[in-house]
Amino acid sequence: MGKIRVLPEVVASQVAAGEVVERPASVVKELMENSLDAGARQIEVEVRGAGTSLLRVTDDGAGMDREDALMALERHATSKIGTAADLAAVLTMGFRGEALPSIASVSEFSLRTKTADAPAGTEAVVRGGKLVAVRDVGCSTGTTIEVKSLFFNVPARRKFLRSSATEISHLDRAVETVALAFPSVAWHYLRDGRTVWRLTSVPSAEARVAELYGVEARRELLEISEAEADGIRVAGLVSRPGVTRADRSRQFFFINGRAVESGFLAAGIREAYRQMLEPGRHPSVFLYLAMDPRAVDCNVHPAKREVRFRNGAMVREAVRRAVEGALREARAEWLRPARPHIVSRIETPGEVTVVSRPAVSAGHQPELPRASAPEARPAEMVVPLSPPPLSSSSAPRSGIGEFRLIGPLSRRYLLLEGTEGLVMLDQRAARQRILFERLQSGVDGGAVASQRLLSPEVLELGPREHEVVAANLPVLVSSGFAVEIFGGRSLKVEALPDFLAGRDPRRVLEDFAAECLEGSASRARGALADDAVRRAVARLAMEPEGVTDEREQRALVTQLLNCELPYCDPEGRPVMLQFSWRELDRKFGRG
Ligand code: ADP
Ligand code: MG
Repeated sequence: MGKIRVLPEVVASQVAAGEVVERPASVVKELMENSLDAGARQIEVEVRGAGTSLLRVTDDGAGMDREDALMALERHATSKIGTAADLAAVLTMGFRGEALPSIASVSEFSLRTKTADAPAGTEAVVRGGKLVAVRDVGCSTGTTIEVKSLFFNVPARRKFLRSSATEISHLDRAVETVALAFPSVAWHYLRDGRTVWRLTSVPSAEARVAELYGVEARRELLEISEAEADGIRVAGLVSRPGVTRADRSRQFFFINGRAVESGFLAAGIREAYRQMLEPGRHPSVFLYLAMDPRAVDCNVHPAKREVRFRNGAMVREAVRRAVEGALREARAEWLRPARPHIVSRIETPGEVTVVSRPAVSAGHQPELPRASAPEARPAEMVVPLSPPPLSSSSAPRSGIGEFRLIGPLSRRYLLLEGTEGLVMLDQRAARQRILFERLQSGVDGGAVASQRLLSPEVLELGPREHEVVAANLPVLVSSGFAVEIFGGRSLKVEALPDFLAGRDPRRVLEDFAAECLEGSASRARGALADDAVRRAVARLAMEPEGVTDEREQRALVTQLLNCELPYCDPEGRPVMLQFSWRELDRKFGRG
């Protein structure tokens, strides 16, 4: 039997509470983590009044006997670690033993718990850190913790709370995060008496994402093929290129099941999407890392979000490599034949049946959903569906994959029909992407050829322009320029890249310098990153209008689809937009 007594160190607990219990969402997070540590398969979270009037977390975990229940309310009481050595390899969510006493010190707190073999459960009631009642109670195995009137005795903290809307969005985020970390646990989340989410136990993070955000959102994500390097395993889902959001609200990182934040993880993502993001846009990221717990320190802050790595650069690299791999594979996906999720609807009076079409194996011509394709169109417009090789090597490539060219839209765009819907292609962005990737392969890779001038030209640029050109000569040369420094501020130009043939060399170099000077946000003197130089060179070839000849249009599409990253131009703007059949049907009220 445990002793009933006033908890010591109430004040110390309130101080600690300041760190652990920042807001209602942090309470919910701590309670859910305790439930998970107790092996819960099902967790119910209920909040009222943005969390200040009620927070209740119920689980079907192992529960506690009376002695443990009372111990749990003591500061630094934890069942999870015993020695400092354990701390180095924490795998449970909690380990500090300060959440419960901290929460209990700033609320009206009650705990109801029962272990499987105990005849009755225990209820403990704590008010502002003082234990006011302990009694037997009838309840099922597991634990329910109720937190009412949060911060009732700490007016200063109460004042720090933001608007209800803000606190609610933090609460949602907290539940969302833990639910993503543990897809196999079922969740019921209620706010003010209404169900927000009811999540079942699912086998994968992918399924959980679909549960939380819908299958459409899931479809906009790529699965990372699980890879392990340097003892770091990376799995998860990331946005397809070109599908971005205005904020980071769908970025989640987990390490060994714990939601974490770290500049290294964010940097890995940024580097992987390098050329694919417009300023201010962010991909969705659900990234699950597994690594030796000793190589990551979660004990930096009581809320345990921010982590420190033994080797941050290695983690960043692992993330970058894994995400880049997924983005590269996505290229092939555009070209893949019909996927099983193409559905047709058979409507019978009063009910709508959704019938999934069987998956079509590669090599078979799938029956494409057509938007009244005129039969007059030449048969060769539909090209056999052989997925082209993944690499950028010069292996023979197929035509325009699964796409059928419908035709130009104004002078700028091309319309295509794909198996998944209507695709609009921005010709100018497509050309930039194609050229940029050619420049990346360079003269040595045979992708760019030089065109000699009739006679070499010696010219002098302004001091700033000269500096930019001189500093970036090697990349210019690999891009097909034959330029050298000819003493002082003179440059000798003997050849231009083929795509700039016939242009005035002086104008070309001046424009190049202007592109670099204006494009580099850093205003850095000297050499720019190779890709920044290539972007500037690609922009020199920009043409205002699209091609009108159908053969050229088809060539443009073919070349684009052979690119590593066909969906966005080198600046990260989209090249192709897809309007799915589903979306079109819905817009026409056929959904
Ligand atoms: P920590 O999680 O860091 O150990 P807490 O203050 O959060 O510290 O919890 C203290 C202890 O109470 C835990 O170590 C655990 O033994 C017990 N406990 C807390 N919540 C639960 C729960 N939902 N089910 C079973 N045991 C729990
Ligand atoms: Mg805990």
